[in-house]
Amino acid sequence: MAVVFVSDVHLEPGRADISERFFRFLELQATQAEALYVLGDLFEAWIGDDDDDEFAKLVPRKLRALNDSGVPVYFMHGNRDFLIGERFAKDSGCRLLADPTRLELYGETLLLSHGDALCTDDLGYQAFRKEVRDPQWQKRFLARPLAQRREIARHAADASVQYQRQHAAEIGDVNQQAVEALMAERQVTVLLHGHTHRPAVHDFTLADGVEARRIVLGAWYEQGSMVRWDKNGIELIQNL
Ligand code: MN
Repeated sequence: MAVVFVSDVHLEPGRADISERFFRFLELQATQAEALYVLGDLFEAWIGDDDDDEFAKLVPRKLRALNDSGVPVYFMHGNRDFLIGERFAKDSGCRLLADPTRLELYGETLLLSHGDALCTDDLGYQAFRKEVRDPQWQKRFLARPLAQRREIARHAADASVQYQRQHAAEIGDVNQQAVEALMAERQVTVLLHGHTHRPAVHDFTLADGVEARRIVLGAWYEQGSMVRWDKNGIELIQNL
């Protein structure tokens, strides 16, 4: 048996190819697993658990089916679906995880994170993150009518694409010092995250000479990406 991890699926109503690939993954790989961990950005945008859009209801139903079949599903917020809340958790059967979360399995310890908090070189983004993670900000946003929230989300997506085009190369990745500081603080030698859309396995040495590993999940825009963890180790699988 194995535990499987995905992140950055970026589900959206206009991309049936992505949702079909993801639903197929739920039926094939995920049903064979002991548990599924979704490490953020499952959705391209999430405007609130009260969204009455058909697609926003379909995805929790699919997760619920997996959960009810005996595969627990865990969810951690990303920078696009940070508004997922208790109602989504209830509808989907997902258990919500804090970022970061330490996971011990098969005699190993892994630190799970979405990854955006580690992109500390991007000061503009970190300021934005702080603002939108504030419960008061979220309360005010969720009090707006759905149509207005949809409009804001659309503008935010456009602005984000523009911003990434201008700044992607220099600030789009995690900061190595932030990575090492977090791993030292949480006392782990393996970190698994997504967000940067740079799927890879990085081996490096921590300050105290200990071997460490950072595994990065890929985005699902063009292909599926998952990490499989079993008693034999951890494997990054692309091209799902
Ligand atoms: Mn992200």
